[in-house]
Amino acid sequence: MARCKSCAAPLPPHSSVCEYCGSQNDVDLKGIHEFTVNKPESERTCPDCDIPLQTLDLGIDGKFYIERCDRCLGLFFDPGELEALMDKSVSNVFSIDRKRIDALVREQPGAGEKIVYRKCPVCGVLMQRVNFAHRSGVVVDQCRAHGVWLDSGELKRLLDWKKAGGQLLHERVRHQKEQEKERQERLHASRDSGSPAIADGFAWSSPTNSRFDLTDILVHVFGRLFK
Ligand SMILES: [Zn+2]
Ligand SMILES: [Zn+2]
Ligand SMILES: [Zn+2]
Repeated sequence: MARCKSCAAPLPPHSSVCEYCGSQNDVDLKGIHEFTVNKPESERTCPDCDIPLQTLDLGIDGKFYIERCDRCLGLFFDPGELEALMDKSVSNVFSIDRKRIDALVREQPGAGEKIVYRKCPVCGVLMQRVNFAHRSGVVVDQCRAHGVWLDSGELKRLLDWKKAGGQLLHERVRHQKEQEKERQERLHASRDSGSPAIADGFAWSSPTNSRFDLTDILVHVFGRLFK
């Protein structure tokens, strides 16, 4: 169990804020990666505190920079960096623990809180709120051009979700949806081209024929079946 760095009280599950003393605890990068504060300040601004973000080097595969607010411990990732960090931090997940995933999604803090749109630390345009991987339950702030902002504690929750097989489940569902879409498209294509899928080459006598010979048809059908 994680404990508050200020008063040593146990932290509530899935939260980085101590209920006793109110301190914000740095849970996101603890035990995941060592980091060095590379440049003390960057050009980028914390959307909550309005102060410059720090640049951290996580030292993955050489250099791996992310940005963090020293006050609220929010993190900013350039496009693709969050996914890369998640892949580096959690791998070898082969099973899906649905109970654990459901519990993680249910226990998201901040449910029912007023929704706040934040400014991108780079361009200042209001970011979109996106449920990461559609079903993680972690709502992140995203600027399509510049990256993703995570509140303190959200990275840890995403990693817990991935460890429980959440990402695996997401990919499996997406794969199934793609296959279903392809199946539907094939069905439509064969319908549009007018080529019936089964009775190829066999045409029923047109109604303008004075009479059709049932025997001929049966011979034709059975002839084909027993060929
Ligand atoms: Zn505390
Ligand atoms: Zn901040
Ligand atoms: Zn931006």
